[in-house]
Amino acid sequence: MSYAHEKYPHLFSPLDLGHTVIKNRALMGSMHTFLEEAKNGFERMGEYYAARARGGVGMIITGGISPNDEGNPFPGGAMMATEQDAENHKVVTDAVHKAQPDCKICMQILHSGRYVFHNSAVAPSAIKARISPITPKAMTKADIQKHIEDFANSARLAKKAGYDGVEVIGSAGYLLSSFLLSFTNQREDEYGGSYENRMRFPIEVMTAVREAVGPDFIVVYRLAAMEMLEQGSTFEETLALAKAMEAIGVDIISTHFTWHEARVPTLATMVPRAAFTKVTAKLKAHLKVPMITSNRINMPDVAERVLAEGDADICSMARPMLADPELVLKAEQGREDEINTCIACNQACMDHVFSGLPASCLVNPYACKETLLIKTAASQTKKIAVVGAGPAGLAYATTAAERGHKVVLFEGADVIGGQFNIAKQIPGKEEFAETLRYFSKLIQVHHVDLRLNTRVSAQELLDEGFDDIILATGVVARTPDIEGIDHEKVVSYADCILGKREIGKKVAVIGAGGIGFDVSEFLMHSGKSSGLSREVFAKEWGIDFENHPRGGVAGLKPQIETSGREVYLLQRKATYVGKGLGRTTGWTHRIMLENRGVTMIPGVQYEKIDDQGLHVLIDNQAKVFEVDNIILCAGQLSLTELQQPLEAAGKTVTLVGGAHLAAELDAKAAIDQATRLALEV
Ligand code: NAP
Ligand code: SF4
Repeated sequence: MSYAHEKYPHLFSPLDLGHTVIKNRALMGSMHTFLEEAKNGFERMGEYYAARARGGVGMIITGGISPNDEGNPFPGGAMMATEQDAENHKVVTDAVHKAQPDCKICMQILHSGRYVFHNSAVAPSAIKARISPITPKAMTKADIQKHIEDFANSARLAKKAGYDGVEVIGSAGYLLSSFLLSFTNQREDEYGGSYENRMRFPIEVMTAVREAVGPDFIVVYRLAAMEMLEQGSTFEETLALAKAMEAIGVDIISTHFTWHEARVPTLATMVPRAAFTKVTAKLKAHLKVPMITSNRINMPDVAERVLAEGDADICSMARPMLADPELVLKAEQGREDEINTCIACNQACMDHVFSGLPASCLVNPYACKETLLIKTAASQTKKIAVVGAGPAGLAYATTAAERGHKVVLFEGADVIGGQFNIAKQIPGKEEFAETLRYFSKLIQVHHVDLRLNTRVSAQELLDEGFDDIILATGVVARTPDIEGIDHEKVVSYADCILGKREIGKKVAVIGAGGIGFDVSEFLMHSGKSSGLSREVFAKEWGIDFENHPRGGVAGLKPQIETSGREVYLLQRKATYVGKGLGRTTGWTHRIMLENRGVTMIPGVQYEKIDDQGLHVLIDNQAKVFEVDNIILCAGQLSLTELQQPLEAAGKTVTLVGGAHLAAELDAKAAIDQATRLALEV
């Protein structure tokens, strides 16, 4: 028996749908990337998906493609509505089937309903979504009929384009799911009122889709299994819909656990791995149709456990396939340590997509740039010094070494990782350790000469005769110019998080950027991390996975244990605290701190620090925070002390990461910049 079948017997077993066999249970789930609308988008999409097909995934579901103009999130968005659209998509399906003939690719049909940004929005009723500027038009019966035909036409064209199947999204608040809930569907005809009536439209759509494509084509229905909304569905309603879909003859039901209007994180790094799979399991117990589960399944052992416990038949991994196109292949070959794990940061994928930018991946800058960023062997081998083993230094060193250069990586600390070693201490950010495990392995695989505990001097670098010197020396925390800043109450964020100083019960945090938020979370934590425990996560966000009240959350309140500290998170800007955080996760961090009792105050002017505490002006009113400690999270400055002596000696140096640009430094920019430079050397 092969390694893969012994270690992952469920993950690597085929799934026979009767008319089609899917070779394994690893699915690349749907994610819009904006390649769909990019210049040369079909070629780029083709190579993006082909790389995942070569990487061993059993089935791919594309990003959402609209069946008509009304369903497009914005004018000019990707559609499958005409014969020409089908012709264009052949580039994608051909690329995938050529790369790996037994990998299936299904097109997701997504009608965005009331979440669109144009005036042709339609919905069951004219009710505006909280997160959308547009009030949709209530669909007439003629509109309903037209839409059913449009979905069927789109599926028929997808088949013509060479897809192996379609997935129709019936969740997340998009058109089909907006028929299901009474707060978005207040119709008085046969498409509104009782649940039976409200599920009529999705059922009629799926019936028409099945008829349009015939029996030998994969049809997946994406079901809102738990909406995380007070007004969501009961378990009985969800099951009734799933049974109806099974009866129609859909091949697979894929479970989804959110609406875009929900206020429960389902993708953030604080969400435990495989947090939602028991919701799928509960439905699966009543159904025969194969089921897909998803969310925070980011490593093959997690997928195997989910499948072995019988929670689902297929594990969907969307972001993990962005992070590492070869995740499945590496599992198959016993190279799990080389998997570039998705850390669920959302910074380069979901944050980009929800800001209208092309998606990529923080830990894998090649994602969605498969035709643009090409790794080739170096034409001439160089001896390269990289100083600093934070994310930028690691990305540069491993990329250059993989290309054939001889790389020495100097690090002053006794471990690699730089700022990631601080980040991984934050409760709910445990995943950051995976990136360090990945880079540790790459250092070995590509024979980087890693020299830990080595604070190298300019002279030593000159003496070793390097062809190129890369300074990835990172950042130093900014010390704000406040009277009394040397007071013993003042602590750096690094000393606080790394436990180098005892922190008292009352604390003021100066600076409310990403690190100020992290420090506040760290200080208010009881020690029980939601990032590790599904039970703690459920309690902290008021979810009942077992009993499935309406939407999973109706009638529940968050129950949070805290450290009992009193924490004030302060900023000088008058804008609301947390405004600069990630688009798709910032709100989560804000709610979390609010629920933990952190007081967030904007518009603060710092006056002085003394034995009494932190003296400030707020709205020109003097106030003293009588705190035990003041933690500095006031941003960063570049550390470039080696640059001047090296340049004075006539050596050209390259600055990467925080050493290059401390302002708005983040790991996404650091890894991307370092990788691009290392591809050119
Ligand atoms: P940051 O996001 O730039 O925040 C620093 C904060 O300090 C600013 O919000 C600023 O707000 C305040 N500040 C700046 N100069 C100051 C001064 N002289 N005196 C007092 N306050 C001052 O930097 P960071 O928090 O150090 O984070 C560094 C990078 O890591 C960021 O790019 C961030 O995106 C990333 N990161 C992200 C996360 C995440 O959750 N996504 C978590 C951690 C880190 P005011 O001037 O308004 O006071
Ligand atoms: Fe995962 Fe972050 Fe990459 Fe998105 S950007 S795929 S969340 S690691």
